[in-house]
Amino acid sequence: MLLVIVGLASAAIIVVNYYSIRILSGARAYNKGESEYSKGQKDAAASLTKYIYLGNEEDYTAFINNIRVCQGDRDARIALSLQVPDRDAAKRGFLQGRNHPADINVLIWVFVHFKSLPMFSKAVNIWVDGDAMVNELCQLGQQAHQKMLSGGITDAEKRTFLQSISSNSSRLTVLEQAFSETLGQISRTIALNVFIADVAIMLVIVVSAMLSANIMIRGLARSKKQIVDQNEKLQIINAELDKFVYNVTHDLRSPLASLSGLLDLIQHETDPEEMKPYILMMKDSLERQDKFINEMLDFIKSKHTGVQRQECSLPAIVDNVIAQNSHSRGVKIYKEIELDNIDSDALKIQVILNNLVSNSIKYSDSKKADRWVKVRTYRRATEAVIEVADNGIGIRQKDQDRIFDKFYMSGDNKHSAGLGLYLVKDAVTQLNGRIEVRSEPGESSTFMISLPY
Ligand code: ADP
Repeated sequence: MLLVIVGLASAAIIVVNYYSIRILSGARAYNKGESEYSKGQKDAAASLTKYIYLGNEEDYTAFINNIRVCQGDRDARIALSLQVPDRDAAKRGFLQGRNHPADINVLIWVFVHFKSLPMFSKAVNIWVDGDAMVNELCQLGQQAHQKMLSGGITDAEKRTFLQSISSNSSRLTVLEQAFSETLGQISRTIALNVFIADVAIMLVIVVSAMLSANIMIRGLARSKKQIVDQNEKLQIINAELDKFVYNVTHDLRSPLASLSGLLDLIQHETDPEEMKPYILMMKDSLERQDKFINEMLDFIKSKHTGVQRQECSLPAIVDNVIAQNSHSRGVKIYKEIELDNIDSDALKIQVILNNLVSNSIKYSDSKKADRWVKVRTYRRATEAVIEVADNGIGIRQKDQDRIFDKFYMSGDNKHSAGLGLYLVKDAVTQLNGRIEVRSEPGESSTFMISLPY
C-alpha cells in the first residue's frame, strides 16, 4: 500500500514538475521573444526617424527589416489563434521574430495549450494591441516613404511624423511592459502552485509513511504479545503436565499400595470367612484402578480423535452405559428415553454418560436406604438434552463451578483423579454443547447436557 502511494506520489511530482518546467521555459522564451520584439520596434522607429531626416534609402530598408521582427511574431500569433493552429506558419513567424530555434516548439506548445487560460489570454490581448501599434508605425513608414519618393517631406510634416513616431513608441513601450509583467505574473503563479503541489504530495508521502510505520509497529507489538501469550500458555501446559504426571503416578500407586497392605493382612489370616472382607476391599481397589485406567484411555482418545459426527442411537448408548455400570452395588439405575437417533459423536456421548453415571454411583449416599440414578433424554427447542440425576451426597455450592476443572476433587474426596468431569466438559464443548449442574448437598445432583439437535 505504502509502495503504491509513494509510487503514485512520485509520478505526480514528476508530472507536475515536468509540466511546470516546460511552462516556465515557455514563459522565459516569450520574455526573450518580447525583448527581440521591443528591440525590433525601437530600431525600426530609430531608422524611420533617421530616414525622415536624412532621406537615405538604406535607413528605410533598415526600418523595413527591423519592423519585420515584430511582424514575424504577429504572423505566428495569428497562425496559432486559428481553429486548427498552423504550426509551420507559426514556426516561420517566430524565426522571423528572431526567437531562438530551440525555443520554437515550447513557444508553440504553450500558446496552443494555454491560449484559453485567463492569464495567458490577457498577455495575448496585450500582444494584439502591440501589433496594432506596430501596424500604425508601419503605415507611418509607408506614408513617409511615399512622400519622400514624390518630392520630399516639408519641415512641418517632419515634425508631425516625429511626433506620431514618438507617441507610437511610448504607447508600445507601455504595452511591452504590461506584456512582460503578465508573463512574470504567470511565472510567479506557476512557481507558487508547483510549490503548494510539491508540499501537498510530500505531505501525502510523509503521512502515509507514518501510517504504515504505525501499522508495522502495532503489528510487531501484536506478534510480540502473541509470543508472550504463547510462552505463558506453554508454561501453564508445562506446569499442568507436571501435575498430571504427579497425579497419575500417585493414582496408579495408591490402589497397589492398598492391595499390598491387604495381602499382608490376608497372609496372617487362616479363616476364609475373615478373609472375605479383605478380598472385597481388594476387588474394590482393582475396580478403582480399572476405572482410572479407562478414564486415562478416554482422555488420550478424546485428545487425539476429533469429532466424528454420524447418526447415533441414544437408547443403545444409554443401555450400554447402564450395562457397564451394573456393578452399582445397591444403587438402582432408571432410564426415561424420549429421543432416538441424533446426529453426533457416539464415542464422545458414551464418555460423557459413562462418567456421569459412574460418578452418581460413586458419590451415592450410603446413609440412604433407597439410592438411585436416573438417566433421561428429551428434546428442548432445538436441543437434545441428556440428564443424569441422583439422590447422592450432593455437591457444595462453592464446588459446583470448579468440578469441571482438571484434577479438581471436591469436598473430602481423596480417592480419585479429578479427571472425569473435565473430560465430560471437554467432550461437550467439542460437540458444541453446554453442561450445567444443579445440586443440593445431602439431597441430590443433576447434570444436564444440551447438544445441538
Ligand atoms: P473424580 O475422579 O474425582 O470423580 P470428577 O471430575 O469426575 O473426578 O469429579 C470431580 C468432583 O466432583 C468429584 O471429586 C466429586 O467430589 C464431585 N462429583 C462429581 N459427580 C458427583 C455426583 N454425582 N455427586 C456428588 N459429587 C460429585
